[in-house]
Amino acid sequence: MNSIQATIITIGDELLIGQVIDTNSAYIAQALNKIGVSVKTRIAVGDNKNDIIKAINNASINSNIVILTGGLGPTADDITKPLLNEYFGGEMVIHQPTLDHITNIFVNRHKRPMIERNRKQAEVPSVCEVLFNETGTAPGMLFRKDDVLYFSLPGVPHEMRFLTDNHVIPTITKTFVSNPIIHRTLLTAGIGESFLAEMISEFENNLPTHIKLAYLPNFGMVRLRLTATGTDENTLKTSIEQEFVKLKNAVAEFLVTDKDENMEVVVGSLLKEKNQTVATAESCTGGFIGHLLSKHAGSSQFYTGGIISYDNRIKTEFLDVPTQILQTVGAVSQEAVEQMAKAVREKMNTDYAVSVSGIMGPSGQTDEKPLGMVWIGVANREKVVSKVFYLRFDRLRNIEVTANQAINLLRLLIINKI
Ligand code: ATP
Repeated sequence: MNSIQATIITIGDELLIGQVIDTNSAYIAQALNKIGVSVKTRIAVGDNKNDIIKAINNASINSNIVILTGGLGPTADDITKPLLNEYFGGEMVIHQPTLDHITNIFVNRHKRPMIERNRKQAEVPSVCEVLFNETGTAPGMLFRKDDVLYFSLPGVPHEMRFLTDNHVIPTITKTFVSNPIIHRTLLTAGIGESFLAEMISEFENNLPTHIKLAYLPNFGMVRLRLTATGTDENTLKTSIEQEFVKLKNAVAEFLVTDKDENMEVVVGSLLKEKNQTVATAESCTGGFIGHLLSKHAGSSQFYTGGIISYDNRIKTEFLDVPTQILQTVGAVSQEAVEQMAKAVREKMNTDYAVSVSGIMGPSGQTDEKPLGMVWIGVANREKVVSKVFYLRFDRLRNIEVTANQAINLLRLLIINKI
């Protein structure tokens, strides 16, 4: 399995000038990693024929799998498809199912006639296998040459994700991955990666060689993933389960969930189980906590709503934070968030509330209140609890981390840990 190596080539001038951040190769790398394929190289090239060909030539020397994204659309700078046609020596032919699909999109969904440019999207090199793209108009393509698989996917991230999950990974698994791979993932919170590593070093040192442990930190929390590879699926299942139980015990104090799920999903499930509700009062996160709580289907069962009290006037008028508090200790304070949580819970008549107020950056700090300082409050019908955090990221990252930490604090209140 170790000999199966991949190269990811992302195409587009906008990637090189930094206008678009290459999230596609990160997604593909993670998906490949999960099935045990190691990514040898990730490279971004502009919309330039010679550069793309050079990248493909280099990739084919040391990879069994080459995945390209971008440059498949109807515009003039989308040069990947004709280039691949020439490279693999075919001729352009109409792919009828794709043409029917595009026609359907234009006639039924957009209610406008198709122009030649759109029709051209249904043309594919005769030497490729078409990866049918249900989510868009540019079909994906697979070329096989000298035992190397070459996938070409659209650059649009959700189309790329669809084709990766539904075509690329299954094809690679069928072609190369004969041995089963099993993952078990858990989420911890409240402990940093290095302390965690220290805590489970004995467990890690005693892991059998066919099981690997990965640390996946995010939002100030750490996910731990065990991956077992071998030949017999049942043996693997038994041994990974045994190790997973040991791992769960070792991190029990900090364990959030033993499933591969996000913090807001864990909290949503807890609230649904208990038939309880939560409301939010957000300043510095501007609604992001509400977004996380409401982004999964079924959230209306536990999330009632929130007040985005960004301006101090809203904190006073809608959440009864006394002006005296704002003038003395300020909006980023224990007093302010506790009042915000208490008020929003009462006004929305929920079982719980979460509130946040902080300095997300890049400016706004004072001597006493540094950048990244954030107060988080949580309330139930009996009490209000608050905690201060000092974050060190940029504005958007600070917002994401704050929201996840706030939801974690809510979880701790729900399970009576604070
Ligand atoms: P389309 O069929 O829409 O034309 P395409 O294959 O031509 O798709 P591009 O034109 O290269 O793809 O990119 C389409 C969109 O996807 C653009 O908004 C682009 O910024 C974005 N995109 C392209 N490559 C990446 C990438 N590596 N990561 C994230 N976004 C990307």
